[in-house]
Amino acid sequence: MQELTHYIGGAHVKGTSGRFADVYNPATGEVQAKVPLANGEEMAKAVAIAAEAQVGWAATNPQRRARVLMAFVGLLNRDMEKLAEALSREHGKTIPDAKGDVQRGLEVVEYCIGAPELLKGDYTDAAGPGIDMYSMRQALGVTAGITPFNFPAMIPMWMFAPAIACGNAFILKPSERDPSVPLMLAELLEEAGLPEGIIQVVNGDKEAVDAILHDDVIQSVGFVGSTPIAEYIYATGCANGKRVQCFGGAKNHMIIMPDADMEQAADALVGAGYGAAGERCMAISVAVPVGEDTADRLIEALVPKIEKLKVGPYTSGNDVDYGPVVTSKAKANIERLVQTGVDQGATLVVDGRDFSLQGYEDGFFVGPHLFDNVTPEMDIYKYEIFGPVLSTVRAGSYEEALKLAMDHEYGNGTAIFTRDGDAARDFASRVNVGMIGINVPIPVPLAYHTFGGWKKSVFGDLNQHGPDAFKFYTRTKTVTARWPSGIKQGGEFNFKAMD
Ligand code: NAD
Repeated sequence: MQELTHYIGGAHVKGTSGRFADVYNPATGEVQAKVPLANGEEMAKAVAIAAEAQVGWAATNPQRRARVLMAFVGLLNRDMEKLAEALSREHGKTIPDAKGDVQRGLEVVEYCIGAPELLKGDYTDAAGPGIDMYSMRQALGVTAGITPFNFPAMIPMWMFAPAIACGNAFILKPSERDPSVPLMLAELLEEAGLPEGIIQVVNGDKEAVDAILHDDVIQSVGFVGSTPIAEYIYATGCANGKRVQCFGGAKNHMIIMPDADMEQAADALVGAGYGAAGERCMAISVAVPVGEDTADRLIEALVPKIEKLKVGPYTSGNDVDYGPVVTSKAKANIERLVQTGVDQGATLVVDGRDFSLQGYEDGFFVGPHLFDNVTPEMDIYKYEIFGPVLSTVRAGSYEEALKLAMDHEYGNGTAIFTRDGDAARDFASRVNVGMIGINVPIPVPLAYHTFGGWKKSVFGDLNQHGPDAFKFYTRTKTVTARWPSGIKQGGEFNFKAMD
């Protein structure tokens, strides 16, 4: 059995706490590795190393720091196949999807290569007589990030790329379900020229997270994961005086207007609802057709597409639409919620409950499910399922559809499919959700825009990546400078008052 490590002080380090978690191959159900779960002492060691290394890194000019990220991009491209394979083996997603995971992180790194430009400060010449004023953005110091299992490459890069570009040291506590890619990323960063101690990976669970939250040296905490943990980390981190940004769960609605191109809408829904087995915070989990006729046409278009979905292990290459879910616990939770849907009166139009894959009976595969006639009181509507389950809520009007998206406690992403520019514009302007797609089902903003939901999908003020990340990972310092004149005219012994 492979024993994974931490990555501390530029080296792979064995865990010393004596506690481990199992890392599965979700396609076979086998435990393929053990990951160490750090205790407070191991975290404190990483923090001390980070604090020492960070001073020199912050003093390295931003262009040199950017060059390390530039080299890192080259290494990510060089090792793309290897990273994607390791990612799929622990997460279960298909190889093309795993490459997308790496690619979307890589794009954030590319954006951060612009650090010299992005970190330029403001300057006011002659703010007063002989007085200049300038603001600079300085690194926070030691920063930390806690990431979820579903994007083990992209989400760590969302955090560590801007943190490092800004001159911080970064401690990553990745998901204990798929920690191998984060460890590989740390190694690649050092191969790219990052000094030891600037990126460290400390594996663990709540104990490691609590050590981060209660460490006085750590200045900021970034979190992405489920909403209850996001709330806990936000409250605890803020109470301990840290800068915190937490991104939580989602329930993304897609509104299908009567004039939408139904084939296009159904294709979009199938990709956005079932891709990555529904384990995306931007997955569409609720379809809202407007009008009974639209609903009937949508279901008719969806069913054959869903029935044709190919579910299988990543080793089947491009021939698979989605793979297993991450753990048997995740699978059991999805099955439990599906059963509540049936019990609470929703119509299970496509029933994936008996799905089984020959040769992979112990894998964590879940067949695709489609519910119709779902109502807002049902558990399958209220809770995030994070599986290949799409719920259809029939709305009588556009206003009713809009209200559904607005009344839901989550507000990560939403989409509208229509040919009517006026309806699309109204929707984008009024809906209280952070990321909107217009005939685009998964509107994940690119690296140079920012990513973030509203409502219970986010806790904190600044979004991920884009310009917000450079604000999150720096503090502003403003200098008012006056150089008394007089030397030119000979010595002057009285300090001049401002006039
Ligand atoms: P999770 O909340 O279980 O775990 C996330 C991280 O928190 C992991 O590193 C984990 O070790 C840690 N953690 C777990 N329990 C903890 C506890 N009790 N105390 C402290 N730390 C704890 O989430 P997950 O299952 O890994 O990821 C799926 C969730 O993440 C979904 O809810 C999904 O919507 C969300 N997500 C959100 C976004 C976004 O940008 N909004 C992006 C991706 C995933």
